[in-house]
Amino acid sequence: VHNAAPCQAATTCPYCGVGCGVSATLEQGRITAVAGDTTHPANQGRLCVKGSALHETLGHSGRLLHPRVDGAITSWDDALDQVAARLSATRSTHGNHAVAAYLSGQLLTEDYYVANKLFKGFLGTPHVDTNSRLCMASAVAAYKRAFGADAVPCCYDDLEEAELVVLVGSNLAWNHPVLYQRLKTARSRNPLMRIVVIDPRVTDSCDIADLYLGIAPGSDARLFNGLLAFMHRTGRMDQVYLDRHAEGLEEALAAACEADVTLDAIAADCDIDPERLETFYYWFTSQLHVVTLYSQGINQSSSGTDKCQAIINCHLAGGRIGLPGAGPFSITGQPNAMGGREVGGLANQLAAHMDYHTPQALERVTRFWQTGTLVPTLPDGPGLKAVALFEAIERGEVQAVWIMATNPVVSLPDADRVKRILAACPLVIVSDCMANAEVLDVADIILPATGWSEKDGTVTNSERCISRQRGLTEPPGEARHDWWIMTEVARRLGFAQAFDYDHPATIFAEHARLSGLDNDPGAAGWRVFDISGLASLTRDEYDALAPIQWPVNARAPAGTARLFTDGHFPTPSGRARLMPVRPCGPQQALNATYALRLNTGRVRDQWHTMTRTARSARLMNHRAEPFVDLHPEDAEAHGIKDRQLVELTGICGRFRGRARIARAQRRGEVFVPMHWNEAFSGRARANALLAPYVDPISGQPESKHGAVNVRPL
Ligand code: SF4
Repeated sequence: VHNAAPCQAATTCPYCGVGCGVSATLEQGRITAVAGDTTHPANQGRLCVKGSALHETLGHSGRLLHPRVDGAITSWDDALDQVAARLSATRSTHGNHAVAAYLSGQLLTEDYYVANKLFKGFLGTPHVDTNSRLCMASAVAAYKRAFGADAVPCCYDDLEEAELVVLVGSNLAWNHPVLYQRLKTARSRNPLMRIVVIDPRVTDSCDIADLYLGIAPGSDARLFNGLLAFMHRTGRMDQVYLDRHAEGLEEALAAACEADVTLDAIAADCDIDPERLETFYYWFTSQLHVVTLYSQGINQSSSGTDKCQAIINCHLAGGRIGLPGAGPFSITGQPNAMGGREVGGLANQLAAHMDYHTPQALERVTRFWQTGTLVPTLPDGPGLKAVALFEAIERGEVQAVWIMATNPVVSLPDADRVKRILAACPLVIVSDCMANAEVLDVADIILPATGWSEKDGTVTNSERCISRQRGLTEPPGEARHDWWIMTEVARRLGFAQAFDYDHPATIFAEHARLSGLDNDPGAAGWRVFDISGLASLTRDEYDALAPIQWPVNARAPAGTARLFTDGHFPTPSGRARLMPVRPCGPQQALNATYALRLNTGRVRDQWHTMTRTARSARLMNHRAEPFVDLHPEDAEAHGIKDRQLVELTGICGRFRGRARIARAQRRGEVFVPMHWNEAFSGRARANALLAPYVDPISGQPESKHGAVNVRPL
């Protein structure tokens, strides 16, 4: 990496779930430029504005450089000894379940694997959850319920092969820009392709829409239940597919028809023009190659799992799955949310796509992780999901938490309370790469971790494609890889035999072996996630690994673009399941005090809590300060002028930003960005406004449906 002459190196963008390949220019050990990797299947040479500014966000300033214990800089040896000793003391005094880990979709798969093995396997606590809970947990729960596995059936090529693409709860243009560019190009090449956007806001994604449905927030399940009833009424179901490959239609249809399913009634409930609704239903039912692409607008809801299921029900009923250009396609927010799911990084998962209730899974994982005489002590049931985990910390049931690569005092709902909870927690360990992450304010032990361009491992994007994120530059100061930090702690805790890792390739190989253990694709209880075909990679082969979509095994050594093409699903019956969905509105109710519906989301040029993207001046230029989008009539009713400073008040907290009066906003609704925090602005944490309501199945918070008031400042 210290070549005198510039050279190119391939890696992967660390931001969104598109997972674009990046070609980095290295000069004198520094990355001086980036471009899209023309050989990477996800982006084929494209990058969005965030990805193309990656090299502007690097550098040592603002980085965590040294370990700290109780505020004082110390050596790695001392910090690791302290982590091990304090975790041991907590377990001895309060039991294994008093220890927890809160992880991140920013971790690489190898980091995630070691964290899951250490906490669940050897510290014996089930409380391992991740910020991916905030992003796509509802999509995971619905896939598992419908298909028997957390398996995304589609691939990006499907967006180009579809005749109809439905974007629902997704501002693709801002949040997954390279996919949006691919879709836009595909549409320009295929005049017959149609695009429908379903969103309460008129977003930039509407620029390519043939039809826009400005839906009332939270009414998506009603819309898709109505579509299911319409398919039935008009004879547009695929009865052959249903007879051969699915079950549960009768119950799903009965639930959909509990409400009035006339077009006028559905249109009224969804606040959509009936003609537009009918057009959408007609388009969906008259095309075979339909992709419904959904994201946080569907997932971040107290009924997110059911909303995803309502979409899946329609695809199954129409046989619009397992074909090129067809399927229900959840797009993840983070670069490695999928990798975290693969290793078992969610509290309800065990490991390698096995759950606690999967037959023989506990025995199998125990056997696999046993090393010599060292036997893992796996918990026998699921742990607490993110919001519940922090509530358990508040009650004192969890006494020690290790937070890695995430900033929960900004990103969790009721964020002010989360900060108070962590401040009162007896032991908070934080591993991070940036020194301005607000969670560091409440940490007892701070461990400097490596960041993008230094970390070395793999990530999996939204189309199940595993790519190498390569270590190209030297870490600053004393920053270390997350897997190395946990391995050193494991050794100090007496688990050295089971954590004999010296390179991410060793960890990846172990993860790949576990994925294929006792798995017979097609037999009862088979697991779709199986990368046993990558278990024997040499270190050189791992270093050179080209992007590949799982499953990768003896049956599919070159990977798998599309799932369920044979109509066989990993459920006990081998059939996919339609499920009854009874639509329900947001839990955060509007009332006389909080009469405006709050919507939160990303802006195009920022990432998460801005710890990295705020370092680029050109990224900051897009939206330089926190803002509140509101409809002109709401602005007038509250005496607010365009660009005036305003304050939102919710049941849990406050948010200050600059008013942007926009007709794109529905009346009675406001939108605020979720990125800003105290480090960048006085009081602009969107999540401080949100009450911690969650989906009862997925545990995903209802981040899209707050209730607030607004006043001019
Ligand atoms: Fe990175 Fe996502 Fe942009 Fe691709 S679309 S360059 S992965 S932020």
